[in-house]
Amino acid sequence: MKHGIIIILLTLFARQACSQSEYGAGFSSPFDFPLIMSGNFGELRVNHLHSGLDFKTQGVSGKKLLSIGEGYISRILVTHGSGYMLHVRYNNGYTAIYRHLMGFVSPIAERVDAYQYKNETWEVSLTPDSTEYPVHAGQQIAWSGNTGYSFGPHLHLDLMETESEDYVDALPFYKQLIKDTRAPAIQSIMFFPQPGKGVVNGKEERQTFTPGQMKPVEAWGLTGVGIKAYDYMDETNNRYGVHTVSLSVDDKEVFRSVADHFSANESRMIYSWTYNAYMKSFIEPGNKLRMLQAFNNQRGLITIDEERDYRFKYELTDLYGNTSRYQFIVRGKPQSIAQRDSTSNYYLKQGRVNSISEPGLELHIPKDALYDDVWLNYSVRTDPQSISHTYRLNDEPVPMQTYGDLYIGIRNKAVADTSKYYIANIRENGKTASLGGKYENGFVKTRVRELGTFTVKVDTVSPQITTINSGQWRSTGKVVFKVAEKETDIASYRGTVDGEYVPFGWEIMTNRIVYQINPLKIKRGVKHTVELVVTDECGNTGRIAIEAIF
Ligand SMILES: [Zn+2]
Repeated sequence: MKHGIIIILLTLFARQACSQSEYGAGFSSPFDFPLIMSGNFGELRVNHLHSGLDFKTQGVSGKKLLSIGEGYISRILVTHGSGYMLHVRYNNGYTAIYRHLMGFVSPIAERVDAYQYKNETWEVSLTPDSTEYPVHAGQQIAWSGNTGYSFGPHLHLDLMETESEDYVDALPFYKQLIKDTRAPAIQSIMFFPQPGKGVVNGKEERQTFTPGQMKPVEAWGLTGVGIKAYDYMDETNNRYGVHTVSLSVDDKEVFRSVADHFSANESRMIYSWTYNAYMKSFIEPGNKLRMLQAFNNQRGLITIDEERDYRFKYELTDLYGNTSRYQFIVRGKPQSIAQRDSTSNYYLKQGRVNSISEPGLELHIPKDALYDDVWLNYSVRTDPQSISHTYRLNDEPVPMQTYGDLYIGIRNKAVADTSKYYIANIRENGKTASLGGKYENGFVKTRVRELGTFTVKVDTVSPQITTINSGQWRSTGKVVFKVAEKETDIASYRGTVDGEYVPFGWEIMTNRIVYQINPLKIKRGVKHTVELVVTDECGNTGRIAIEAIF
């Protein structure tokens, strides 16, 4: 009898442990139509790792968004980047974040509306307690949309472990609802010979090869490899991030990446893990991404120091177990390796505070900013006409995990009002981006998270505001302006109808500022005066005031 109870208890514990490791209790679908993904967990985005799943919404906004489980709405947000958002804290230890929504449902919609009018702000952040908005699986909690930084109607669904706040892959919950028989594929392989320590085919530069068409690669010394690879799913042409990448050399695994969890802080480490669209199969010393593992005590880098063939093998696997394998030969061949001078002024060491002092330039980089050591390819361009010198800290951008302080000296005080100065980052394509900045004692100071090419510019031009189809405002129920801000960025804006504040939203994809007419507040079909004031980062103000019937 006693034994029987113990066995039952053990069985129960074993079950619980097992189901927890497979993500605890299940979640239901956020929609009442078939799920198709347009983005998966951990896929590479321009400046971050994708933290959730993107679900297609049949090409339209306004689909009923259903709660995927039982819990309560723990945050209500309206932001420029992710549009309308909800956090729902579920009882099974996870919190879901739903982004790019078209709008909320009652009574949240009314609460957000009242908040916007009362606080005269478009952006909203509310933190209800567990008793205010309990939800159950299948209950409608919002409308899907295309708001914020979004390229088309879809739902972005993040799943976070409530306790650790780690983002985790939600696909294990939806595997049975989505078909995938297609394996990931490598498009291209890149070699990363290490500066001063290795060469590949006689060169120090990174080199790419197409798998399947590769002759043996000749190398000597220390090198890393990486791949450009994508995963695919059935019934769609989208491409996705690869869940598991494993690299072995001579049948010994040296590196593995598993895209299953990361923290918000780790997301930026994509800059270290990847180079353009290539995922490195080695770990730079400043890269703390826990999804990456190396097994050869060289962080996944490989030493080629014998005159023989080294057999490299990649194995790529998705969550469904679809697997592809690639092999190639690296032939050890002695080649001369040019030494690097680590006493140079422009040698920055990872894991240590670094400073650069040049005439008209000061740069301070904190200890944990760099991912790896770097020899800067530094140059300065002087032009007697310009406001400051133009400093190229390096020929290609060097990303950092945290901010450094950058000071650039003013040589020509072209404009007396010092609030108009800002530091511009000049991109490789010649385009410039404002990094803002503040004038102090002859220098403009700002924070930088990437070492590139910098100069000081002046912005005295006001944002230009134009109306968009004002004749249709009445029929569409929307008051729409477009803002052109050439030099810096929009810092703030305020809109009124007949002198009273109304919540205009800034659509960052199109730089439109839009007010969705609320018929409870605004009398329809009569003439109103609309005014919009927009201020840029240098304090230049643009203003438009027009009369229109809507
Ligand atoms: Zn997304």
